[in-house]
Amino acid sequence: MERFGYHVSVAGGINLSFGRATALGCSAMQIFLSNPRGWEIRGIGTEERERFSIELGKGKIHPIFVHMPYLPNVASPKDGIREKSVRAIKETVERCEELGIGYVITHLGSHLGEGKQIGIKNAIESINEAAVSKKVKILIENEAGQRNSIGSDLEDIAEIYSGIESGVRGICLDTCHLFAAGYDIREEEILDRIDHIVGFGNVPVLHLNDAKYGLGSGKDRHENLGNGFIGRNGFERFFGYGKTRGKSIIMETPEMQAENWEEKEIELLKGILSRA
Ligand SMILES: [Zn+2]
Ligand SMILES: [Zn+2]
Repeated sequence: MERFGYHVSVAGGINLSFGRATALGCSAMQIFLSNPRGWEIRGIGTEERERFSIELGKGKIHPIFVHMPYLPNVASPKDGIREKSVRAIKETVERCEELGIGYVITHLGSHLGEGKQIGIKNAIESINEAAVSKKVKILIENEAGQRNSIGSDLEDIAEIYSGIESGVRGICLDTCHLFAAGYDIREEEILDRIDHIVGFGNVPVLHLNDAKYGLGSGKDRHENLGNGFIGRNGFERFFGYGKTRGKSIIMETPEMQAENWEEKEIELLKGILSRA
């Protein structure tokens, strides 16, 4: 059975994320370890780490995924930026090892107009430099297809994945990004193609988001499950494919006005999984 949850806040201490995830009905979660709009990867004090460890030890919420902040750009042709990006991932990997977290999710950034091959080469080098722990896997995430970004074409994801040292690598597939990049994940032959290119076996986690815009829009705009262009039936077909099952599922869907909307969305997800 799938484990699932949301991206939850760590405001006031990373240990507090567990209570928030539990209150929403999550069995897994994703967090930021530091300011998502900054470069600084903050240190974790002994007390905070101990509190985190007690919560983790209860065994209710797992696995935990740490999402990298948005500024690092591992594909950058600018050496200064690339080095800062490597340092940020490396420090995040070290924090994760201290905390007993097994996964860091990173985007692949942008080649800034210098061309895809340069971006891919830089991304591979950067991630290999940042992979300083055998206990922490760096998961590369596919993109929606914004200008100059690396990773909306799954062939590029596959190339980068194969360039990273085995044992420390993995792939995070975001359903909204796949759909926006032109992969119609409601269709079996497309899912077969995805499996052929990246291998669902290399994917421990799905970012399960519906898409606010249509197939191939290139826009990274998430929608709540069932309310977007993928739709409830689309997700049933996606999970009906089979190789998509058994992954951790993290939702990064927008805030809704309705009270307890997260619990309702989780119920919807459970329904989709049981019918698929
Ligand atoms: Zn992401
Ligand atoms: Zn997104």
